[in-house]
Amino acid sequence: MSDGNWIQNIVIVGGGSAGWMTAAALARGLDRRYRIQVVESQDIGVVGVGEATIPPIRLFNAMLGLDEAEFMRETQATYKLGIQFRDWGRLGQSYFHPFGVYGLNAELGHFFQYWLKLDHEGGALDLADYSLCAQAAKAGRFDRQSDDPRDPMSTFGFAYHFDTILYGQYLRRFAQTLGVARTEGEVVQVDQHPETGFVTALRLKSGQVVEGDLFIDCSGFRGLLIEQTLKAGYEDWSDLLPMDRAAAAPCALRGPLSPYTTSTAREAGWQWRIPLQHRVGNGYVYSSRFISDEAAVATLTANLESEPLAEPRLLRFNTGRRRKMWDKNVVAIGLSSGFMEPLESTSIHLIQASINKLLQHFPDRSFSPANRDVYNRRIQVDMETIRDFLVLHYKATVRDDAALWSYVRQMPIPDSLAERIELFRERGQLVIHPDEMFTPTSWLAVLLGQGVHPRSYSPLVADQDSRAIAEGFRNMKALVARRVEAMPGHADYLKRHGMWAAEAAMA
Ligand SMILES: Cc1cc2nc3c(=O)[nH]c(=O)nc-3n(C[C@H](O)[C@H](O)[C@H](O)COP(=O)(O)OP(=O)(O)OC[C@H]3O[C@@H](n4cnc5c(N)ncnc54)[C@H](O)[C@@H]3O)c2cc1C
Repeated sequence: MSDGNWIQNIVIVGGGSAGWMTAAALARGLDRRYRIQVVESQDIGVVGVGEATIPPIRLFNAMLGLDEAEFMRETQATYKLGIQFRDWGRLGQSYFHPFGVYGLNAELGHFFQYWLKLDHEGGALDLADYSLCAQAAKAGRFDRQSDDPRDPMSTFGFAYHFDTILYGQYLRRFAQTLGVARTEGEVVQVDQHPETGFVTALRLKSGQVVEGDLFIDCSGFRGLLIEQTLKAGYEDWSDLLPMDRAAAAPCALRGPLSPYTTSTAREAGWQWRIPLQHRVGNGYVYSSRFISDEAAVATLTANLESEPLAEPRLLRFNTGRRRKMWDKNVVAIGLSSGFMEPLESTSIHLIQASINKLLQHFPDRSFSPANRDVYNRRIQVDMETIRDFLVLHYKATVRDDAALWSYVRQMPIPDSLAERIELFRERGQLVIHPDEMFTPTSWLAVLLGQGVHPRSYSPLVADQDSRAIAEGFRNMKALVARRVEAMPGHADYLKRHGMWAAEAAMA
C-alpha cells in the first residue's frame, strides 16, 4: 500500500473529557506523522459532570505516562474503593460494591463457593469482612495496592473521583505538549463528499475550514457528526433504564474524606455523593415519568450535607446507544456514542474502551467496512454488558413503596441478564464474558447485595471439611481487619504522598 493511503489528518470535534482523552491517547499511541486537531467551543461548553471512575482508568493514565501525584493535585482527586448502595435492595438496608477481590490470595470462584457452603450451613458470614476494599472504605483508610500475588494487598483495588472539568483541562495541556493542535470555534456546517457521504471538512462560525481524513465525534449528546450529519440512528433503552434526568449541585465536605462513592435510592431514582478534595459532588438521577423537576431538585437539596455551593443544574439524557458508533469516516466517542446513567461510573470507562479499540482497529483511507463492523460489534457488546449490569440493580429490588420501584421490579429484562441471574440463583455460578469490564467481584457484590441468594452451591466443595473452611475464614477476617488497621487515613495518605492540592498551593 502506498503512503497515500494512510490517514494524515485526524479531527476531533469536542473538548470535553471524551475529546481530550481521545486526543491525548492518540497523540501518545500514534506517531507524529498524524496531525491531530481538536475543535471545541467555549460558548457551547462541556457537560461538566462525571466524577467517578472504575479501576481500569489507572491503565489509561499509565498508558499516557501521567504522574499520579500531579494528576491528583491537578484534578482535586480522591481515591475510590467502591460504591456504597443504600436503600437499593430494600429500604433501610445497605451493601458495598468493592473493587479488588473478595478473599485473600484466593481464586474468587473457590473462595465464594466455600463461603456459600458455610452460609448454607448457617454460618451467616458477611462477605464484606473478607474484602480489604470494603473494610478500608468503612474505616476511611487507604493504602497502596501490591503487585506481589503473595501479599494480601494484591487483592486491593482502586479508582479515582476527580473534578471532570479539571481533568479535561489537565489532559488538554498534556495533549498540547504532545503536539495536538486546538482550534476554538463553533462548527456550523459539515461538508460531505457528494458520492460517498464521507465527511470532508468542518466549517466554523469564524469562516475557518477544517479538513480531515478521520473525524472523531466527541461533541456530546448532540452527536454533531454521527447523528446530525450521518443519521446513524439510536437504540433507545429507556424501558429498561427509565432514568432520563439529573439535578446536580456541589456542596462543602462535612466530616472525614470517605474513599468511596455513595448511591442512595430515592423515590424516583437515586442520589450520588462523590467526595473530592475541594468539594462534594451530588446529584439526583431520576425518571421524569415518576417525579417533577421541582420535586427532584427539592429532594436533592434537602439531602445535602451542607449548603449547595451553586444553583442545582438540570441535565436531560436519553438512555441508549448509537446504532453505529463508527460510520463512514466518523467514529463517535463519549456521550455522542450513547449514554447510560452514571450508576456504576461507566461512561468515562467506555471512552477509554472506545479509544483502545479504535487504536486496535485504526483505519487507513480505504475505511474497510469489515474493520468498522467489528469495531461496532465490540463496542455494542461493551454497552450491552453495562446495560445488563445496571438493570440488575433495579430488577433485583424488593422495594414496592413507590411507583418507580414497582415498575422496575416487574419489567421484562434482556435474556442475557435473565440467564446470568438464573445461573447465580441455582448455585452461585458467575458468568463473566471474555473482555468484560465488570469483574466477578462486581457481579457478586451486586447480586448478593440486592438479595439474589443461590439455592445451593457447587458440588466441587460439597465434601470439603466445613470446620477447616470456617477456621480459614476466621483467620482471613482477622487478617483483613489487622491489615486495614495498619492503613493510614484517606486524607492523610493524600497529604503524605504530595497529592493534596491545597497543600501544594501553599508550599
Ligand atoms: C448526570 C451525569 C452524571 C455523570 N456521571 C458520571 C460519572 O460519575 N462517571 C463517568 O464515568 N461518567 C459520568 N457521566 C458521563 C460523563 O460526564 C461523560 O461521559 C464525559 O464527561 C464525556 O462527555 P463528552 O466529552 O462526550 O461530552 P461533553 O462534555 O458534552 O463535551 C462536548 C464537547 O463538544 C463541543 N461541541 C459541541 N458542539 C459543538 C460545535 N457545534 N462546535 C464545536 N464544538 C462543539 C463542546 O463545546 C464540548 O467541548 C455523567 C453524565 C451525566 C449526564
